[in-house]
Amino acid sequence: MNARRNRRITLQVSVALLLLAGAFGIAPRAQVAARYDLLFRGGRVVDGTGAPWVRADVAVKGDTIVLVAPRIDAAAARVVDAAGLVVSPGFIDIHTHARRGIFAVPTADNYTRQGVTTIYEGPDGSSPLPIKDFLAKVAATKVSPNFGTFVGQGSVREAVIGTVNREATPAEIETMRGLVRQGMLDGAVGLSTGLFYVPGIFTPTEEVIELAKVAGAMGGIHVSHMRNEAAGVLDSVRETIAIGEQGHLPTQVTHHKIIGVQNWGRSIDTLKLLYEARARGVDGTIDQYPYTASATSMSALFPPWALEGGRQDIVKRLQDQAARAKIKATVVENIKFDRGGGDPKNVSVSSCTWDPSLAGKNLADITRGRGMEPTIENAAETAMYIIEKGGAQGIFHAIDEKDLVRIITCPLTMIASDGEVPIFGQAAPHPRSYGTFARVLAVYVHDKGLLSLEEGVRKMTSLPAQAFGLKNKGLIKTGRDADLVIFDPARIQDGATFEEPLAPPEGVEFVLVHGQLAVEEGRITGERAGVVQRRSS
Ligand SMILES: [Zn+2]
Repeated sequence: MNARRNRRITLQVSVALLLLAGAFGIAPRAQVAARYDLLFRGGRVVDGTGAPWVRADVAVKGDTIVLVAPRIDAAAARVVDAAGLVVSPGFIDIHTHARRGIFAVPTADNYTRQGVTTIYEGPDGSSPLPIKDFLAKVAATKVSPNFGTFVGQGSVREAVIGTVNREATPAEIETMRGLVRQGMLDGAVGLSTGLFYVPGIFTPTEEVIELAKVAGAMGGIHVSHMRNEAAGVLDSVRETIAIGEQGHLPTQVTHHKIIGVQNWGRSIDTLKLLYEARARGVDGTIDQYPYTASATSMSALFPPWALEGGRQDIVKRLQDQAARAKIKATVVENIKFDRGGGDPKNVSVSSCTWDPSLAGKNLADITRGRGMEPTIENAAETAMYIIEKGGAQGIFHAIDEKDLVRIITCPLTMIASDGEVPIFGQAAPHPRSYGTFARVLAVYVHDKGLLSLEEGVRKMTSLPAQAFGLKNKGLIKTGRDADLVIFDPARIQDGATFEEPLAPPEGVEFVLVHGQLAVEEGRITGERAGVVQRRSS
């Protein structure tokens, strides 16, 4: 008999007992005001702190956890038998690109089904502006997860001086500081940078620090997609630390990874740099997704100078013979030693607006389809052709599992998906959108035993809550927000793969957001109780 059936029978038995009680003159249920709205009974409570689990009942009233105790007997409107299951704080994902899909799929099924109850937008230096209007739109839409955002340095710079490759004047920096201040006042949790992307790539560290000071003074954090995650990764970690140290705010390396076979192993030194920084008082942290492939625009294979300005500027460069040859040389280098993973097969298109049929194909396939041998040189031509035609999103297999494991087992590392809210039938996204949290619990906790269950949960709950100043989230404790996930620790499994990226996870039985069931017995309920998260000052 499976657990689900068991729970149903328990409910039926309780109803029978209540009827019996009624027959014997004991007040029937309808006349007893239930003290609690929901009671999760007999589960293994992993409270988010990293402490060993305890068997306990968890009672919820309204949007709050009101009691955690070995046995709670008071009446509840609904009792869920959690025997055999883990009761955990809802997972917090601090790096998502959810604004692409959240308005089309407000239930954010891919996150909700994994037990993610809070998500953040605006990473990588790219946020909607103004923040106020964006968060108002999210609130009006009513979405399933709680939802917050960063203010993006790249978006702020673009608003002030465009995507040009030049230093900003002091007056322009002052205008940018004003936009960051406004973003923070509107509720941003901190400043994100994407120094790998245009226009972050054109931004000197000192300019970022000036903006970081504003976010820091207002209680914000800095989170960075670093300038370089391959050959320059150590300098980039130093830069991320410098922004925290001189900007006087916590600083985080986002989706930490080491790209390119020649750089593998450097996580030993990146982690050392972060520990050294912490030893002198810099609050440096990390987030990571559990995959050995990254995903971003195909233009990631291009040299930064070739990306200045708009699409027309880029196309113009590609049509200039000398510039094209220079671009090609870098793309070849990047396929060999950087994001390309040494082989055109390691780069695939995840979505392409001008030719959706390219989604799921790799650079070798597409090169062959164009009647050429899939050599690295020819694949570089294909990459340039793709950019010329209008660009595409790509998936890049160029990360070593050993670095992944070293980073995920580091106590400074929290879990974040870097995913989005995919729309069914569209494109072939990175599986991290559907699988990140379930995969950590299935592969790195359950199968490989590299993390204890409690440590895995801590990385998804209290660690991000603490780093992001979410006072009422991330712990199962009386008085905290009733954001919970109830899952089977033996059965939890990510379904999404690179071939089938939209397959849902298994083993997540109940998900509670703001006291409302968003997932019930493994199924999305459609409940949209998520609350917009504005920075608490
Ligand atoms: Zn990123």
